[in-house]
Amino acid sequence: MALETQQFLQIAVPSPLRRRFDYLPPHGSDPNTFIPGQRFIVPFGSRKLVGILLNVHQQSDIPSNKLKYALSCLDPEPVIPSQLIELCCWASRYYHHPIGEVFANAIPSLMRQGENAESKKHWCWKASEAGHIVTAASFKKNALRQIEALEILQQHPNGLALPMLKTLGIKTMPLEALAQKGYAEKFLRAPNPHPTDPQALFKESPLLLNEIQQPAVHAVIKALDADDSNQSFLLNGVTGSGKTEVYLHLTAHCLQQHKQVLILVPEIGLTSQTISRFQARFNCYVAALHSGLSERARLEHWLMAQKGEAQIIIGTRSAIFTPLARPGLIIIDEEHDLSYCQQDGFRYSARDLAIVRGNIEKIPVLLGSATPSFESLANANSGRYQPLELQSRVSDGKLPRPKLVDIRSNRLREGLNSASLHAIKGHLENGNQALIFVNRRGYAPVIICHHCGWTHQCQFCDSAMTVHQKPPHMLCHHCASTRAIPKQCPKCEQAELQTLGYGTEKLEDYLNQEFEQHDVIRIDRDSVKGKTGWDKKLKQIHRGEPAILLGTQMLTKGHHFPNVTLVIIADGDSGLFSVDFRAPERLAQLIVQVSGRAGRGKNEGEVLIQTHQPDHPLLLSLLSQGYGPFAQQALDERQQALLPPFGHMAIIRAQAQYKNQCLDFLNQAFALLAPIQHHHPELEVVQALEPTLAPMEKRAGRYRAQTLLLSPTRKPLHQLLSQWIPALETIKEGNRVRWHLEVDPIEIV
Ligand code: ADP
Ligand code: ZN
Ligand code: ZN
Repeated sequence: MALETQQFLQIAVPSPLRRRFDYLPPHGSDPNTFIPGQRFIVPFGSRKLVGILLNVHQQSDIPSNKLKYALSCLDPEPVIPSQLIELCCWASRYYHHPIGEVFANAIPSLMRQGENAESKKHWCWKASEAGHIVTAASFKKNALRQIEALEILQQHPNGLALPMLKTLGIKTMPLEALAQKGYAEKFLRAPNPHPTDPQALFKESPLLLNEIQQPAVHAVIKALDADDSNQSFLLNGVTGSGKTEVYLHLTAHCLQQHKQVLILVPEIGLTSQTISRFQARFNCYVAALHSGLSERARLEHWLMAQKGEAQIIIGTRSAIFTPLARPGLIIIDEEHDLSYCQQDGFRYSARDLAIVRGNIEKIPVLLGSATPSFESLANANSGRYQPLELQSRVSDGKLPRPKLVDIRSNRLREGLNSASLHAIKGHLENGNQALIFVNRRGYAPVIICHHCGWTHQCQFCDSAMTVHQKPPHMLCHHCASTRAIPKQCPKCEQAELQTLGYGTEKLEDYLNQEFEQHDVIRIDRDSVKGKTGWDKKLKQIHRGEPAILLGTQMLTKGHHFPNVTLVIIADGDSGLFSVDFRAPERLAQLIVQVSGRAGRGKNEGEVLIQTHQPDHPLLLSLLSQGYGPFAQQALDERQQALLPPFGHMAIIRAQAQYKNQCLDFLNQAFALLAPIQHHHPELEVVQALEPTLAPMEKRAGRYRAQTLLLSPTRKPLHQLLSQWIPALETIKEGNRVRWHLEVDPIEIV
């Protein structure tokens, strides 16, 4: 007699524990019918949770009499495709993050709550055979609604989708009643048929590619046609060089082959132009996935992507986890953008995961930017990515050459010197728009007592509170705590409070006085609320009347402002003195991106960078040589110092109520490293820096400390982490400390 082998379900349960959990199959079920990617309801402590089946296996480390039974399987078919499971498992290993939490980030929250994985929208109804011959006479007199519903179904032999039936005034109840009698049936609509005529694909005709775009498009098409190509490309193209047009052409190619395209953009609100361009070009369903969606809409879009009904999927970073029925191409627009890195909870880089996903799905990945990250440039240098260049603008519009404006000992008006003010006046008089970039929102960064020197510090952070005037309040930009603006100094009680420095609000007031006949359009997080707020501002800008655009980072992304001919960077010094080795990269990206907003129309642009450091080698080399050579030079320096992307980093950050709690914890953690390295001499190449307090010691009421790990290659770092991280969970002080690991941290301060 053959022994029945016991089967175990290995399940990812949404829990901060760094492991997979084994369960016995639900009572009376046949484990051989289960497939990874199905959801199960499982008991977990006193709760019931929805977990995802990763594996059915024959061995468990836990004796089977200690194991619990899974309660039920939610899905007749797997809802998470195997490629996505592979991606999540990879991410869990690479970022040393609990697998259950990785999945919780990867799937819509309604899926985690056990919602049916069929999209409601796509239920259709039709009359059954019996329903086609039955007549109204067979119904009771009061069954009017059923008769009405049946008549409509009889008129539509192919069936009607539920939303259409609702539009026609038919409710679900009579349909269900008809189904009970065997006169109607419910079915799921088959995925959209693909247009067989390639011309039917286009709503508008594509532009003819220029001779610079053509080779780029052809290179990627070659990879697309290779069927089994996971080549990654870096499309390095100045702003206005036609990158988006390249994306559109490649998308058309994929759609013609019935394949889907996944496009990641930094922030949907700021990149709505990109979405509209895809919607305007193609006759197909474009699913947008972003934080502004309702949970239901997010699930619907997710399901449409999974079933292949949405051919184009555009989303922000978490959309990298969207399941695709027929993946063709992944595009990451503005690949250098920091918003691709998730900075809390499960910390990952969507750009890096895109490359991994390309390998798993065996499809090409295209990264595009006017200012590629140094990581991606290094990958292009080493041949890992194929570089594609678009180094001139499509229109005759020349790229403006930024000029440094020496503001040393100049009299400044809210940060602007007379040359800058003069330039603004000139451009406005010529009927153009001027854009001023200021890296600080609010009215002023500091309020100070002129009598005794008191400043308004945040109670919870090592930082001054910012004065805001619209509406008036003090706000901490680190913890978001607010206070009323003091009328007198709390220390000496004199009413001699003054503001120091300036932010966008103060500059707005000043510019309104100085240029009262023109609009001053302020764009920052306080003045632009939600997508409609942004659309309103855009409309105002696109009217094209002479105006001053004044704003923060929001102004630097993605948008075309055809009438802007002057760009002023008010504070070109910020970033020159940071201790973070990435600061020069960020500053250069910012300068080039902001400059790129100028002169995209017919009129030539002018870019002015105000600085106290007109001889700074970094600024000079960027301006004289441009971003590419500047980046190569900076990469050489990083290579010599073994900094990323040549060396590899991980950082542990701890927070606690008291300073010594986080330092104690990290010191103990640090002490655990030596024994591991002693046992595994091959891991000794990993260097750990002694724990230190963070440069901003206290934030949001908690002290912060960190310790950094550096390694010349990736492998030993990850081997060390996989032994070290589980050991950290055993440190007793750990329960008073919140800590987390960041792999490839994007900031080290
Ligand atoms: P990028 O994404 O690099 O900023 P876009 O693709 O938005 O550049 O192109 C800039 C402008 O040039 C857009 O208005 C676009 O419609 C236009 N454009 C792009 N490619 C072509 C082309 N091949 N022929 C004509 N116009 C083009
Ligand atoms: Zn005072
Ligand atoms: Zn604060």
